[in-house]
Amino acid sequence: MHQAKLLWTNLAFFSITGLITGIAAPLYAFLVGFDRWQLLIALLLLGYAGMSITMGYHRLWSHRSFEARWPVRALLAIGGTLAVQNSILHWSSDHREHHRHVDDNTRDPYSAGRGFWYSHIGWMLREYQPDRYHDYRNVADLQTDPIVVWQHRHYWPLAWGVNLVLTGLLGILHGDLMGTLLLAGVARLTLSQHFTFFINSLAHIWGRQTYSEQNSAKDNGLLALITYGEGYHNFHHRFASDYRNGIRWWQFDPTKWAIAGLSWVGLTGNLKRIADERIERARASLQMSKAKSRFEALPNAELLLSQLQAEYDSLLEKMSEFYTTRKRLLECKRRSIESGELAQRCRRLKSRWRQQRRYWNHFMRQSLA
Ligand SMILES: [Zn+2]
Ligand SMILES: [Zn+2]
Repeated sequence: MHQAKLLWTNLAFFSITGLITGIAAPLYAFLVGFDRWQLLIALLLLGYAGMSITMGYHRLWSHRSFEARWPVRALLAIGGTLAVQNSILHWSSDHREHHRHVDDNTRDPYSAGRGFWYSHIGWMLREYQPDRYHDYRNVADLQTDPIVVWQHRHYWPLAWGVNLVLTGLLGILHGDLMGTLLLAGVARLTLSQHFTFFINSLAHIWGRQTYSEQNSAKDNGLLALITYGEGYHNFHHRFASDYRNGIRWWQFDPTKWAIAGLSWVGLTGNLKRIADERIERARASLQMSKAKSRFEALPNAELLLSQLQAEYDSLLEKMSEFYTTRKRLLECKRRSIESGELAQRCRRLKSRWRQQRRYWNHFMRQSLA
């Protein structure tokens, strides 16, 4: 079979940064050592780059699951260049194709069907989809955002600027240029990249399918720890427009917390959430079909299946009753808040009008006397 063209620059880039991280950085740690300040800078830059990808590239731009004011968008666009994963436009275009054609080995850019290596990094080492490379039609909506266009135009100067110049300056300030470049520059970059790559590879291989078996995406709490919440990938593929990936309070999803936190101060808004009932239904329906196929193989299948169906119907009925009533309760609460506000306004207007009436009567007494 004809092999796709090798992308030498990408291969060289991943090899050199990988070797520096695997060999030069540990050697430097052993011979010279890194101090706490360098570790702190590396961790901060790691978090900044990673969250810019998950919150910015992924949930804001690729899926438009919330809106953000320009200072937040600018910060995320610059942080994205720190992660060296190509421009917002390019990344989002790939990612939308991934969702649209998930697991399709020719159309999903990082299809997990082609194995761990391909979906992790292999897809970037050869030009597998040359006709799609500069085709940004599926991200036309993003081209109305001047920050996205600006970042795409100046991507490489920005990427060199933050990765080399900024870390270099921090190193000079600290007094150990080489060590800071090795740790906060290269090693931090390599880690940050592979943490993201794990979402395309491991999150499609290892974990549970909680909401859908239509594609290979998995929910994995461990993976969420190093991917700022993106480990809940089965939920994400089922409900991609939701700004959350970990929907339970105990699920680790700092990207969700940051988006929600910023909305309290008005920096993000229009946070999209799938209704709880739809999520619960998807979960129950998948459990139901799993149980059905297990019971069908058993000797007393008929009895078990009818029991299962009865329990399931009862579950859905109670679920639906609860959610309908809760909706009505919320509606009432909203109305009672509204009526409280109206009553307050009414009292204010009444006293304003009465005052004016007193004045008017006084004025009339004088005018008509
Ligand atoms: Zn995926
Ligand atoms: Zn996605």
